[in-house]
Amino acid sequence: MNGVRIDLHTHSTMSDGTDSPADLVRVAARAGLDVVALTDHDTTAGWREAIDALPPGLRLVPGAELSCESVGADGRRVSVHLLAYLFDPTSPVIIGEQERLRAERRRRLWRMAERMAADGLPVDPHEVLGNLPPDAPAGRPHLARALIRGGVVSTVDEAFARYLGNGRGYYVAREDTPVEAAIDMVAQAGGVTVLAHAFATSRGPTVTPEVIRDLAARGLAGLEVDHPNHDAATRAELRALAEELNLVRTGSSDYHGSNKTIAIGQETTEPGQFEALVERASGAEVVVGL
Ligand code: AMP
Ligand code: FE
Ligand code: FE
Ligand code: ZN
Repeated sequence: MNGVRIDLHTHSTMSDGTDSPADLVRVAARAGLDVVALTDHDTTAGWREAIDALPPGLRLVPGAELSCESVGADGRRVSVHLLAYLFDPTSPVIIGEQERLRAERRRRLWRMAERMAADGLPVDPHEVLGNLPPDAPAGRPHLARALIRGGVVSTVDEAFARYLGNGRGYYVAREDTPVEAAIDMVAQAGGVTVLAHAFATSRGPTVTPEVIRDLAARGLAGLEVDHPNHDAATRAELRALAEELNLVRTGSSDYHGSNKTIAIGQETTEPGQFEALVERASGAEVVVGL
């Protein structure tokens, strides 16, 4: 599998990306990828469309990015994103928890929009949430788009820096899944889990290496080492931790279409690492475009 290009973390319009699942797999093929994972936040709704649109030879790894929480260095709650791959999407525990999370996402985004509207910002909660499909995983990028439409900011990043980021005045936290429980759920559904952008401090407080050691003992399969939000020193630290704990190392773009400036395939996973991940999964198959 030499020269094979693998990107294991992307988002479509089924969550907060801007390409439909069908467009996303076409974009992946055009970018020269051989393997792409679809990992929308808290939903598997895009799997079918992506599979049906798969260009010949492209392999799709069905997945999701689960919104979880853990504890940080000061004992406080921190947000953790758990990439889950190749799990059975009909698992009732997973379906139930994803439904709860999507409802929680809507409640939380509504509260943020209300607070912004109360301060006179051009954000109408009815409009922001009304324009999304009822069971779509609503996220802050949707609020960022409203701020752009209202002429308040010109980019999604500016919206996060000024209004939406953790620590900004309008930030509202969510009740996410305890990460240990999420690892168990995915394992029960035959899937494998990888901790996404674990040390991306630009997103807020992160977990400690001690927590990662516990999660590895609990069945976590891998760490996302190469991610646009990790600098060289952070990548080195995570790579060493993965080696120490015998975890798979992945690299991925976290592509969100035009909601971010990252290109698909900008970061990639080594073929041997990908194979080690697939070997541990039994809940769904990697799908090859015919
Ligand atoms: P939420 O899902 O509501 O917590 O919003 C976070 C989402 O916004 C994540 O999927 C990020 O990838 C995305 N995002 C886009 N731009 C930024 C940014 N500048 N900072 C943090 N998150 C961002
Ligand atoms: Fe996102
Ligand atoms: Fe994430
Ligand atoms: Zn992501």
